[in-house]
Amino acid sequence: MTATVNLTNPIFTDLDAARAHFEAIRWPQGAYCPFCGQTDTVKGLGGKSMGPGWFHCNDCRKKFTAAVGTIYERSHIPMTKWLLATHLMCASKKGMSAHQMHRMIGLPYKTAWFMAHRIREGMRELNPRGPLGGNGKTVEFDETYVGGKEKNKHANKRNKRNIGGTGKEAVFSLVERGGKVRSHHVPNVTAKTLRPIMDDQIATETRTMSDDGGARARHGEPNHHAVNHSIGEYVRGDVHTNTIEGYFSIMKRGITGVYHHVSAQHLKRYLAEFDFRYNERSALAVTDVERTEKAVRGVIGKRMTYKQPVGGQDQVSL
Ligand SMILES: [Zn+2]
Repeated sequence: MTATVNLTNPIFTDLDAARAHFEAIRWPQGAYCPFCGQTDTVKGLGGKSMGPGWFHCNDCRKKFTAAVGTIYERSHIPMTKWLLATHLMCASKKGMSAHQMHRMIGLPYKTAWFMAHRIREGMRELNPRGPLGGNGKTVEFDETYVGGKEKNKHANKRNKRNIGGTGKEAVFSLVERGGKVRSHHVPNVTAKTLRPIMDDQIATETRTMSDDGGARARHGEPNHHAVNHSIGEYVRGDVHTNTIEGYFSIMKRGITGVYHHVSAQHLKRYLAEFDFRYNERSALAVTDVERTEKAVRGVIGKRMTYKQPVGGQDQVSL
């Protein structure tokens, strides 16, 4: 596989190159039958009768391509454009809006919007599941708020009590220093809401750190340390929340600068996208190419059944 991928790479313009690239990602050990799972009697059909990319399984006697069982199957969008969209989303630090994608890829805006959401959904599946931290490790956690500005809302939709997070969507994130992040769209940031998330996602013996606000949810935990922002304390020895605050600043610059408005309904997918890029970041020795390949792997096992809710439109035909 190529060491670097730029926009002149043939996988973004040449269907044969795109297909070969996807086959190598989907089938690193060689083609297997998506219906019965075996590899022994799978043979390439050579492209003469069916066109290129078709294989035949001699056990179940079915024909298939590498796209079967992925979002590329039955998609009218060529694989070159799926790969380009995935690359653009993976290589742009703050993400890429559907508007910009529509201009760069040359597809209708609604199609670009749909693709971006499918790609995010693939990223969500790839984000890590098990607990963060462990013995000798530190996990920082904090909350932030995202959403439309109150002053931009129509007067009768404005929330007069909009102080701090009211009227916005709450996001709770945990990050392991030198490791991975997890973000959650939460209904509120009460201890009752946050405790089960932390119980589930922080390994025992982890040192945890937050500011004084977050400390309430970790009350009574002997390994928890808090800096007291309310009295102007931000660092005390190695106790600080700089890692999670740095992450929030990337996320918020992306959400306000690139996506402008993110609806509550789709917020979890945007969070998955930002978490994915952070978790596959270059500081952890992940290259743009590896990050994109991983995101492409996320589309495997997905189907094209997502309804597009924008403006009450019916499912867009791809
Ligand atoms: Zn088979």
